[in-house]
Order: sequence, then C-alpha cells, then structure tokens
Amino acid sequence: MLPLRTVRGRLLLGIACQATAALAGVTPFIAVAETGRALLSGEEWLLYVVVGIAALPVRVISLTAATTLTHFADNDLQLHLRRELARHVSRLPLGWLSTRGSGAVKQAVHDDVGALHHLVAHALLDLVSALVIPIAATVYLVTVNPLMTVITLVPLALGFAFRSRAMRNVHVRMAEYHHATESLNTASVEFVHGIAVVKTFGQTGKGHNRFREAARTYGKFVSDWAEHVTPPLIRSQIVQAPLVALVVVLTAGTALSAAGLLTPADLVPFLVLGTGLSGPALAIGYSLQELRAGRAAADRISTVLATPALREGTGAAPVPISPARVEFDSVNFGYDAETEVLRSIDLVLEPGTVTALVGPSGAGKSTLAGLLGRFHDVSEGSVRINGVDVRDIPSAELYRRVGFVLQDVRLLNTTVLDNIRLASPEADEAAVVLAAKAARIHDRITALPDGYLTVLGDDVHLSGGEAQRVCIARALLADTPVLVLDEATSFADAESEAEIQEAVGELAVGRTVLVIAHRLTTVREADQIVVLEDGVIRERGTHDDLLAADGAYASMWTVTR
Ligand code: ADP
Repeated sequence: MLPLRTVRGRLLLGIACQATAALAGVTPFIAVAETGRALLSGEEWLLYVVVGIAALPVRVISLTAATTLTHFADNDLQLHLRRELARHVSRLPLGWLSTRGSGAVKQAVHDDVGALHHLVAHALLDLVSALVIPIAATVYLVTVNPLMTVITLVPLALGFAFRSRAMRNVHVRMAEYHHATESLNTASVEFVHGIAVVKTFGQTGKGHNRFREAARTYGKFVSDWAEHVTPPLIRSQIVQAPLVALVVVLTAGTALSAAGLLTPADLVPFLVLGTGLSGPALAIGYSLQELRAGRAAADRISTVLATPALREGTGAAPVPISPARVEFDSVNFGYDAETEVLRSIDLVLEPGTVTALVGPSGAGKSTLAGLLGRFHDVSEGSVRINGVDVRDIPSAELYRRVGFVLQDVRLLNTTVLDNIRLASPEADEAAVVLAAKAARIHDRITALPDGYLTVLGDDVHLSGGEAQRVCIARALLADTPVLVLDEATSFADAESEAEIQEAVGELAVGRTVLVIAHRLTTVREADQIVVLEDGVIRERGTHDDLLAADGAYASMWTVTR
C-alpha cells in the first residue's frame, strides 16, 4: 500500500507497543490461573499475584503509546496525502476532472483519506490484539496440557470453518454488490432528475421502470446473499459462544480428569482462559474486513496519484497576450488508443472573429474546443496560440489567454462577488459591477438579500440562466483574449435566453471566440462556421457561403427552419 510507506516506522513501533499491551493484558489471567493452581496444590502463590498486578500499568502505558504513535502517524499521513493529492489533481488534465466529476476527487481527498484513519489509527492495532491475545493464551495452555488445549480449540476451529464457508467468493460478491449499488444510484439520480419531465409528459409508469428494475435487482441480490451467508454465520457464532466453550471445557475436563489425563488444578487455566478465546478471535474477522476497506481506499488514492499529470509548459517562448490567433494544425485526437474522435483538423481562428462549431451530437465539437484549454492534449498535430504550442505555455499563462463559459456552470459556495472575481481575485468591486452589468445580471444580484455579498448555495439558489450570466460576468472580468463558449441548450425561458444572448454579444467583442453552437439560429452572424461530422471538418464558410454551397449545413438549416 503505497500511501502507508511514509509512516511505516511509526506504525511498526505502534504495532510493537500494541503487542506488548496485548501480552500484558493476558498476563493477569494467566496469573489468576497460576494462583489457583498453586493454591490447589499448596505451592507458593504470592509471586503470581505481584506479576498479575504489575502487568496492569505496563498495559496502560503501552496501550497509550501505541494509540498515540498511530494517531500521530495518521495525522502526518493525512496531511501528506491531502497535500500530495491537491498538488497532483491540480496538474491533471481538466478533461480528467470533468469526466470523473468533483465526486471522485472528493471521494479520494476526503472519504478515502478519512477511511485510512481507521486503518492506520485503529484497525491495525485491533488486529494485533485479536491475534496476540489468543495466540499467547493458547501457548500458555499448551504448556499446561496439550490434549486439553486441542479440545478447547475445537469450537473455535469449527466457528472459523463455518465463517470461511460464508465468506467464500466474497470478492466476487462484493464486486456484484458494488455493481448493483451503482446501478441503483444511477437509476435513482435519473429518476429524481427526470420527475418533472416524466410528469409533464404523463409517462409516469415508463420513467419509474428503470428505477423499479434496479431496485428489484438490488433487493434480490441482497436477499440472495443474506440467505446464503446468514445460516453459516449464525452457526459460527453459536459454536464460538463462551457458554459453548464452558460446556466443552467442563465436559472434556471432567472426562480427562476421570481418565487420569488432567489434574483438577490444571483444569483451572482452561476455565479462566479457554472460555475467553473466542472474543478476540471473532474480532480477527472484523479487523480483516476493516483492513480490506482501508486497502481499497489506499488503492483508490494510489490510482489517482498514478494518473499521468499534464506536462507543464516551460514558457520558453513568450506569447503576446493580445491579439490572439489560434491554429489547429493537423490535429488528431482520441480518448483512447483505439478510437480517433478528431481527425486531420486544420482550423484558424483569426483575432477578433467568431467561429461557430456546428454538427450532430457526438461529432467532436466539445472535444475540439477542449483541446484549446488542454482539457486533453492532442494525439498528433498541435494547437497553437500566436504560434506557440499550448503544451509549451505554463498553465497559469494559458488560462490568462483562454477563458471558458461552459454549459456545465460551476458556481462556488461563496459570495457572488468572489464567484465573479474567481479568475481575477485582485479586481475591485467597481470592475465586478461593470462586468455584471455587461453580463445582464447586475439587477438580479442587487435584488438578492445581501447584494454582491450574498452567499450562493446557502442564502439563495440562482436559476440556470442566471448562473450562466454570472459565469459570463466572470469571463468578462477575466478578460481573456480567447474565449470558448458552449452555448446553453437547457435554459428555455425566453427572457433569460435573450439576456444570455445579449451578454454573449458583449463577451464576443474584440475577442477570438470559438462557440459550440447547438442552434443554427444563433450562428448566422459568425465570421466562420465549421461543420464537424464524425470528427472531421465537412464544410466551412460564412452562413451565406454555406447556404449557397447547398451541402450539410444547408440541409441542417432547412430542417431547423
Ligand atoms: P459533441 O460535443 O459534438 O456532442 P463530443 O466532443 O462530446 O461531441 O464527443 C465526441 C466523441 O467523443 C463521442 O463519441 C463521445 O462519446 C466521445 N467522448 C466524449 N467525451 C469522452 C470522454 N471523456 N471519454 C471517452 N470518450 C468521450
């Protein structure tokens, strides 16, 4: 487990202390048993009492040391991992983040690192106790009477046999379980998101079906599994119950005494220790389960850390900020080695012009636009700004040149003011207000309970169109010479739509704009229209040129009219 390497020394020391504590925990029981044997056979017993009592402070001290060591190790590990993850994630391609979503990052940085706390600070120590206590007790019992020890261990062994039967194929089952849970989660999210649409179209039954099917599959899987696992687990718990151990020890002990194979004094240790073996032994199962969960979390963290980061540009060739001329030169790109999503793309975006990308869904429009901001890097060819390959421009420099207004609006849970000046934190309030006015969102902001200081998400939720205009204000303030716009498709209300169009108009002035257009009516005015189909450029030209050419664009235009 890669992440644990940094704290291995302290963990080993903690484990040693815990083992000492476990031995010191068994010692008083052995001392009681030995005192009993000595009293029954009339031998000296005081030393056993002294040793038993002396073991108590040793246990307290080594337990404290073990827990302190592992907690300190855990603190350092969490700090190290969180810093490492934050540093690494910030260098990953933006495309990686948008496909995984913030959920996956949160899972690694928060949940998985948190899950390691249990592993590092507790589960390892619990496992050490669970192993050392029964082993030490068994070794002692063997010195008293080996035959009786074997008999005492029979219920324990039976319990493990039942348990391992229940746990057979647990990996396969767990994988199936995760799959069923994921399907249910996806179906639930779809179901909740789709409620409004489904109701509007009166298709209640249909919309529910997928969710119902996923819930049924999940329920059937869980009940099948429970049916398979519960009987052997119950049997295992019954045979490992202390009462069963007591019955076995008493019956076998009496029989062996009668046969002259065990003295009554030697029965005492089995009564004191033999009946308590199953408790810690049972804990082994739980500790192993926790170790497995911790291991899975550590593996997920390792996977994130092993994802190749973007090569950071050296900035060797300085790029003038403005005006910006963008070139896609013989660009090929595929998300994986097998399928090419973009092929032989040659495209120039002249400074101060608007280029509209049109084409069917899945043609590669978002992918092409994303290459400009290094969401992913090209497989072949290059994307250049003022002659410099985007891969050679340091990311901070790149994002000072390329801005995005995407459909997938991201607002932070902070004030409207800070949301707008996210890309330019030093901007003063007057500049923010100016940008908000140009983005047609100023009036809405001043109507909020605390105006620009209203915290989004807590105090108020903005509509999709309003959130998009906040993002446009953000892009206006960032004032990048190149802008990638993914035209919204989802905000259908006419007023919001018109305001967004006006705001976009403000944004386009004097910039090099690449707009992913979903409705042809909005691309008429573009300086250049590029028709993308199946990852290649089919046509390019102005609206009038393309209509005259009577090709793919002309037929799309006729259909939408
Ligand atoms: P458009 O924007 O024109 O709808 P996209 O650029 O989103 O098209 O997608 C182009 C192709 O690339 C599609 O076949 C899509 O399935 C695939 N694709 C998009 N994003 C990813 C991704 N993150 N991983 C793998 N394939 C993807």
